[in-house]
Amino acid sequence: MTVPRSHPRYLSLMTRDKLVEGFLKGLAAPQGLIAHGRGEAFDYLLGEETCPEAREAIAAAAYRLLTAQSPVVSVNGNVATLCPEEISQLCNLLSCPAEVNLFHRSEERVRLIAAELRKSGCERVTGEHPDSMIPGLDHSRALASGDGMMGADVALVPLEDGDRCEALKAMGKFVITIDLNPLSRTARKADISIIDNITRALPELREGIALLKGLGEEGLKEAEEAFEDYDNERVLAQLLDRMTRKYLSNPTQD
Ligand code: ATP
Repeated sequence: MTVPRSHPRYLSLMTRDKLVEGFLKGLAAPQGLIAHGRGEAFDYLLGEETCPEAREAIAAAAYRLLTAQSPVVSVNGNVATLCPEEISQLCNLLSCPAEVNLFHRSEERVRLIAAELRKSGCERVTGEHPDSMIPGLDHSRALASGDGMMGADVALVPLEDGDRCEALKAMGKFVITIDLNPLSRTARKADISIIDNITRALPELREGIALLKGLGEEGLKEAEEAFEDYDNERVLAQLLDRMTRKYLSNPTQD
């Protein structure tokens, strides 16, 4: 079916089509389609736009990723389907690996996702031959690479599940997530939670990092001060308040 550009949910419908294609190509798991539906429900409550709280989280995340010693970006089937180019550009900008990590792991799906990332220009892909286990997890999400997730000090784990987020934190890593659900365990446990659609958040994050890179010491100092004031729980509380008020104070919103 061709969706007309004028449709009020054009982007949302195109994103659904992209995920279905990703599923048919073997990148996304069928369960990924359900997880996307949960995300969509929260995106609806956000008015399908990046809100000021997400921008504050993105700015803090940009600073922390840029100043990390060994950052890593975790990639699952939905992430690889929705934004392989953005993930690749972000990793190349940070000179860090994209590590494939799947809950519903099969060697074939790992291979397809790694190939998709390389096709999109990603210079470092890890996770195909994991040599380590994240302590405290007893499913395939525990698998990790010594030259990727295991050695990282800062991990960007978009669309993550709560127990892996907690296990990574328990290892002493600084964890940043992108998740539309502000009440998920991941969003509540991460150090920085960007509550936004990954398709909108990643370009902003990349631009934020590129901008910071171009600033002199003065600019970086300002970013550091803003980062030090960042409090994930406060930002989540403000965002939840925004979500509940948005439609009440604007009853004509579609
Ligand atoms: P938790 O264990 O953290 O409570 P969960 O069990 O809800 O989370 P999953 O089912 O693994 O987690 O789903 C991953 C998360 O990704 C969900 O919280 C969902 O809201 C979010 N999500 C799905 N699609 C997107 C998207 N396009 N952008 C951002 N977040 C998304």
